[in-house]
Amino acid sequence: MTLANIPVEPARGDVLRCKGWRQEGILRMLENTVANGEKPAELIVYGGSGRAARNWESFHAIVAALKALGDDETLVIQSGKPVAVFRTHAMAPKVLTANTNLVGKWATWPVYRALEAKGLIMYGQYTAGTWAYIGTQGILQGTYETFAAAGKRFPSGNLRGRIVLTAGLGGMGGAQPLAVKMAGGVCIAVEVDPARAERRVGMGYCDVIVHDATEAMRLARDAAGKGETLGIALIGNAADMFPALRRMGLAPAVVTDQTSAHDPLNGYVPAGMSLAEAVELRARDPDRYVREANASIVRHVAAMLGFQDDGAIVFEYGNNIRGQAEESGEVRAFEIEGFVPMFIRPSFAIGRGPFRWVCLSGDPEDLAVTDAAALAELPDDLLKTWMAMAKERVPIQGLPARSCWLGLGERDRMGLVFNRLVREGRLRGPVAMSRDHLDTGSVAQPTRETERMKDGSDPIADWPLLNALLNAVNGADLVSIHQGGGSGMGGSISAGMTVIADGSDSAEERIARCLFTDPAIGVVRHADAGYGEAKDAASRSGIVSPMGG
Ligand code: NAD
Repeated sequence: MTLANIPVEPARGDVLRCKGWRQEGILRMLENTVANGEKPAELIVYGGSGRAARNWESFHAIVAALKALGDDETLVIQSGKPVAVFRTHAMAPKVLTANTNLVGKWATWPVYRALEAKGLIMYGQYTAGTWAYIGTQGILQGTYETFAAAGKRFPSGNLRGRIVLTAGLGGMGGAQPLAVKMAGGVCIAVEVDPARAERRVGMGYCDVIVHDATEAMRLARDAAGKGETLGIALIGNAADMFPALRRMGLAPAVVTDQTSAHDPLNGYVPAGMSLAEAVELRARDPDRYVREANASIVRHVAAMLGFQDDGAIVFEYGNNIRGQAEESGEVRAFEIEGFVPMFIRPSFAIGRGPFRWVCLSGDPEDLAVTDAAALAELPDDLLKTWMAMAKERVPIQGLPARSCWLGLGERDRMGLVFNRLVREGRLRGPVAMSRDHLDTGSVAQPTRETERMKDGSDPIADWPLLNALLNAVNGADLVSIHQGGGSGMGGSISAGMTVIADGSDSAEERIARCLFTDPAIGVVRHADAGYGEAKDAASRSGIVSPMGG
């Protein structure tokens, strides 16, 4: 096994190590993904065990292949291992990757783990295996949109004076305290690993760490009483802390969770043991570990249901904690609703979702120029509010990047503006544009993005596969197809894409095609399911529907 080469740092500046910016851009995205990850030494990026490459040997082979890749060639990656370079053509993607895909009946954790132990597969999550991870900032706007939508249910229209109780301060969950504060509220986030909490406080996502539930409750009530915002990390296990806080009379307005409950072996820490004991048990007796984790998940969900019975707004935040709890005997688990049907579907129906861009030069000035260009091109109130908050409060992680929810017709416009800025030399380097898989048309996940679709089409995975095919024929620079994602084995099929604005005519052509059809297939998916706003968006954008409707 080749030695790990950490720390991995994304290259910056204008020196190319590859034959062109398309290859160099993809390489910097890979490096940026690993560098921003939760456990870089293990190539683990976020979401329990979501990886960027199968192992270090594969990582180094990918880097070498990208450096040698010609403009008319495509690198093919199977679950984080580079397997071929094919002569394709100049408009073809530079990288095609497929992660964690198992045939339906075999998409179970035991089958996956046996294959993983043989070194044949890796867990790609969403942006980890697509090399589009930009750190916790990537999920921040989505998390803010969710909590802001929850706030709209109160007479004040926001979370001012309200307490949100949640758990998990990892790669994605770490966005929660800041997002709650942006929506006006106070957040208590239970986290079992003090190092994770310290990381979030260090980065400005959370304000204070406490080890005692009484102290957390006192601080939260005090801040909420004064209408102030505060992010509190409470060190402990959610399966213990949620019931304890309820017994102590905490009445949070909103309750959710972002522990990695989708993976009861590598993600969720069972109650009743220290973190070190959990790590030891995981290695010594994985079956017992999973049993203990599932028993804790049941207690955790029972407490969430208790808060719901008390009148709180309770939702699952896409980590399959309801599915795990139901499998282990909590019959009421699905009385808790998912966050997409509750808050996000109206955005997805019109093609609005988490667009992001990364300034490959590494120069923060490029981010300032692209931010200003975005506001000038799309002077919309939602965007203005978000950008003002983001510029002031979102710390830069790795290469300067911005996550920004844009809809159909907006992403391609932005992409073309960025390409023009590069061509005119107003940026120091090209811009990579990408997105989460959690988007309008790029995922089927029946307990999350496609939960309770109007026509009941929740588990139909044709849509994300069509999305990937469209991005490939339209010439995105990287296209990926994943299984599992945030819901665990068998939970989802999703697709990722990245396209690079390098100022060329080829980029202009490919950006115009990819960044239109990528959200457009999402609008078509929602129109087909009967959402009126999707039908309107499709007809406004001139999308041809051979069967009408
Ligand atoms: P992560 O693995 O980086 O972090 C999970 C955190 O939970 C860790 O810090 C861990 O210490 C903590 N934890 C585990 N068990 C705990 C317990 N019993 N009590 C308290 N803390 C505990 O994962 P992540 O990237 O933050 O993602 C979290 C979950 O959210 C995953 O299941 C992921 O699939 C899902 N997810 C949701 C969205 C979304 O938009 N809603 C997006 C991406 C991922």
